[in-house]
Amino acid sequence: MHGPFTTRFPVFLIALFVFFIAASSNAEPPALSTDGRICGAQAATYLDARLAIWQQRMNLADWKISLVVSHASDLKPKTLGNVHWDTKNKTAVIRVLDPADYRVACRDALSDMEMTVVHELVHLELSSLPRSQASRHDEELAVNRIAEALIRLDRQGPPASPSANNLRAGAPADSGDITASSR
Ligand SMILES: [Zn+2]
Repeated sequence: MHGPFTTRFPVFLIALFVFFIAASSNAEPPALSTDGRICGAQAATYLDARLAIWQQRMNLADWKISLVVSHASDLKPKTLGNVHWDTKNKTAVIRVLDPADYRVACRDALSDMEMTVVHELVHLELSSLPRSQASRHDEELAVNRIAEALIRLDRQGPPASPSANNLRAGAPADSGDITASSR
């Protein structure tokens, strides 16, 4: 039985609070090829490495988490990713939008894909808490803020690129799937 899954709402929020984590590595996505196929191939390697780092930081290293790069047609409309988890077996699958479906440069796409990964990991952190239809919107707002703060601390710079933020802001806040079933 799979646990509930969440869909990342593409809403950009300014993180207003400080979330303390272990020292960061000031990581920036590498400047990669503008060729979509090459970007996609390099994205998997880059994101797998980043996932491992974030799992350690967020004390989720005991979870077996798989990343699946997915085309927009495999995600809920106007969303950038989602997560499915199995609490009993401590397994999860995070789907992130394929860089080929971003309308931004490869580097910006990777930056935003990493944001999706962190966002979904925060959902995973909260997975043991009670959830309801009513709490979903508030959880989404909190997850967005925490993920933004974590990424900002990691990069020690301004928020994610304007292009990526525009993409996040492009969908209504209630566009996510709020059912508690697995696909
Ligand atoms: Zn979300």
